[in-house]
Amino acid sequence: MSETLRQRWERVCQQVDAACRDAGRDPGGVRILPVSKTFGPEVIREAVGLGLHRFGENKVQEIREKSEPLADCGINWVMIGHLQTNKANLVARLADELQSLDRPKLAAALDRRLQQEGRSLDVLVQVKTADEPSKYGLPPDQLPAFLDQLGDYPTLRVRGLMTMALHTTDPEAVRGCFRRLRELRDRAVDAGHALPELSMGMSGDFPLAIAEGATQVRIGTAIFGPRPYPDSYYWPEGGGAPR
Ligand SMILES: *Cc1c(COP(=O)(O)O)cnc(C)c1O
Repeated sequence: MSETLRQRWERVCQQVDAACRDAGRDPGGVRILPVSKTFGPEVIREAVGLGLHRFGENKVQEIREKSEPLADCGINWVMIGHLQTNKANLVARLADELQSLDRPKLAAALDRRLQQEGRSLDVLVQVKTADEPSKYGLPPDQLPAFLDQLGDYPTLRVRGLMTMALHTTDPEAVRGCFRRLRELRDRAVDAGHALPELSMGMSGDFPLAIAEGATQVRIGTAIFGPRPYPDSYYWPEGGGAPR
């Protein structure tokens, strides 16, 4: 088991390096965010043994459950899934970064909670780049005003943009989503915002995301193996939960 996780991790690192070379990019410019959702503290501890210290989770309840038994590991928890406003307090308390900031109401709630905690948080704005009704994310035309508004919240350090591509086997359609995010970022930078991070690409599509400028790729299955729950559990609009 230990060896399997190590082998998977090393293969993903090699594949990311290869994708960087193909794109003419410096591999140092692309970080891997291991996505540990559904996997328990033992598996994550094993990954810590491989030198990983930053993990993405789709549900804040899982961060809450795992952070305590792993408190000795110095993990930075990154929330990457849809966050209900009434759970902003948990992210303010437990997460080091939120990549799924997608609406003004959530920003206001987070700022209030972070002030109470005396903390600040790195955030990425999740943008909807796919023309699908079922994906979370801020509509692209609302991004300029939202970025301006985030300037009012000193507790939120806006570091960049995040997206999830279309769920399709058509690589050009997927790549189009990544390209759209990069272009939105470039336009926002022209308007005066500092947005170094582009979080895009998952196990099935990260080489395309790297080709379009990703600075971090969120990789679950390719590192940890298949998940016990179907994706519909994490993207509920696509189907029913298993419990
Ligand atoms: C689960 C998840 C990932 C990783 O998905 P894999 O296909 O397993 O690599 C990336 N981003 C988000 C938002 C996720 O929920």
